[in-house]
Amino acid sequence: MSRKDENKGFICEHCGHKVLPMTNGGYRNHCPFCLYSKHVDGAPGDRRCLCNGLMEPVGLNYHSQKGFQIIHECLRCGQRNVNKVAERTVQPDEIDELLRLF
Ligand SMILES: [Zn+2]
Ligand SMILES: [Zn+2]
Repeated sequence: MSRKDENKGFICEHCGHKVLPMTNGGYRNHCPFCLYSKHVDGAPGDRRCLCNGLMEPVGLNYHSQKGFQIIHECLRCGQRNVNKVAERTVQPDEIDELLRLF
């Protein structure tokens, strides 16, 4: 499967919103409305992890080069991942939800 195929919309399993693909060339890996993600990656982007658990947003991290990142914790296996905040795209991450993580 090409990277283009992977970057398509999905229905959020947590809040049920229809999520559109990113328009800025980035890769959407969490819902912009509730910020939940899915545990599908071993290393970022490799999609090799078979856990498939829902990942809850548990905090915000500031990276000097990458900017703000959301810390996700898997509700099934407990693994933590950090994901870049989606901005400058259709459906950017909800600022109210991001502020809740502070
Ligand atoms: Zn959602
Ligand atoms: Zn997991």
